[in-house]
Amino acid sequence: MKILMYAVLEPEKKYIKQWSEQTGVEVKCVDERLNAQTVDWAQGFDGIDFQQTQPLEPVVYQKLHEYGIKQLTARMVGYDMIDFDLAKKYSLVVTNVPAYSPRAIAEMGLTQALRLVRKLGYYDQRMDKLDFRWVGLESTEIYNLTVGIIGAGHIGGATAQLYSALGAKVIATDPIHRVELNPYLEYTDQETLLKTADIVTVHTPLNETTTNMFNGATFKKMKPTAYLINMARGGIVNAADLITALQNKEIAGAALDTLADEGQFFEKQATPDEIPEDYKTLRAMPNVLISPHSAFYTDTAMKNMVAMGLNDVVAVVKGQRPQFEVFN
Ligand code: NAD
Repeated sequence: MKILMYAVLEPEKKYIKQWSEQTGVEVKCVDERLNAQTVDWAQGFDGIDFQQTQPLEPVVYQKLHEYGIKQLTARMVGYDMIDFDLAKKYSLVVTNVPAYSPRAIAEMGLTQALRLVRKLGYYDQRMDKLDFRWVGLESTEIYNLTVGIIGAGHIGGATAQLYSALGAKVIATDPIHRVELNPYLEYTDQETLLKTADIVTVHTPLNETTTNMFNGATFKKMKPTAYLINMARGGIVNAADLITALQNKEIAGAALDTLADEGQFFEKQATPDEIPEDYKTLRAMPNVLISPHSAFYTDTAMKNMVAMGLNDVVAVVKGQRPQFEVFN
């Protein structure tokens, strides 16, 4: 069996090699994404695997069908680049990787929250200035805190388990109440969560209910001692309002793995003129932590992302039911 993988990133390569050696399936990797220009490369392969946000052109579906390909495997959570009517028309089974490692993102959120709670940004600032006084560095302990999770799905659920294991009180809002999370959290309403949580950690998708969910009015409801952790999508937090809230001491700090305007500069070595003013302002604050949308980036996540996608390619090629078929 031979599989062609499109848009392969350098960090994925060692996991692809491992999977190929373990399964005996030949995998060819190309840097380019799947599109009208590159679809012909799939000729002679049994299956394909790709990751991209750009929509697939109609000719891609038609040609894959002509080349005998039976699936469209996106090795990522999102699948909105796929036209399901065309996939159906050309008998292409759609699969994705819905949860490659929720723990990866949950652990990054917890790590950043602990750094904020222990005021480590202020510690660094002091150490740089050779200021060894303790004043102003008094902290609190995590088991005394209430953690509010907005969006308790795969990642929010894993986050609840981590904080619960540390002895914190965990409350959550989510339109879906999952019984399996009952040992770790209590469901509440958003108003109560914002007013009572010491750490507010967001794990929702970006949608019409969550865009700009954190704005000037939201920050005013939070405790002045509370921290905001956003490991989800930048558009959920209004960066200008966050800056104002931090400057006015309406909240105590924030950790952001994503920013709404990150597309301009993330995932590359940026030059100073490419960096937006809001990033610079936030980055200069000792109570703000910013990471480059890399909360998912662990060995486990990379390995799962590669293997879960490729295992489903093999399943469809062999006429078996894939584990992560997407029905739309
Ligand atoms: P999921 O679908 O398992 O969980 C999301 C949950 O949010 C669902 O339970 C949903 O009901 C809930 N939700 C939706 N709107 C809500 C609202 N207005 N209020 C409260 N809850 C709401 O998704 P997941 O796998 O846990 O991922 C969550 C998000 O994390 C993704 O959508 C993505 O934006 C982000 N993410 C970030 C990284 C990273 O590296 N930083 C990696 C993967 C995913």
